[in-house]
Amino acid sequence: MNQPMTNARAKALANCAQDYHRWHPTFSLGEKLCLVCGLRAYCPFCLSRPPTTDARLMACALHRQERRNEA
Ligand SMILES: [Zn+2]
Ligand SMILES: [Zn+2]
Repeated sequence: MNQPMTNARAKALANCAQDYHRWHPTFSLGEKLCLVCGLRAYCPFCLSRPPTTDARLMACALHRQERRNEA
């Protein structure tokens, strides 16, 4: 039995467990979705409230840049 897809998914999920998520932008501004485990991340500067209760806090590229300039 050859199941390369299952194997790749298992590897990807192992990465998620170590906090290496495969973030992908969604149609919502400031909101990202992990293609592997389905976890959501949101930018607290773009969104006033998290899209889901377990969503991860993650500043978007734009706001990360702004904060760096401030510091
Ligand atoms: Zn993930
Ligand atoms: Zn943002």
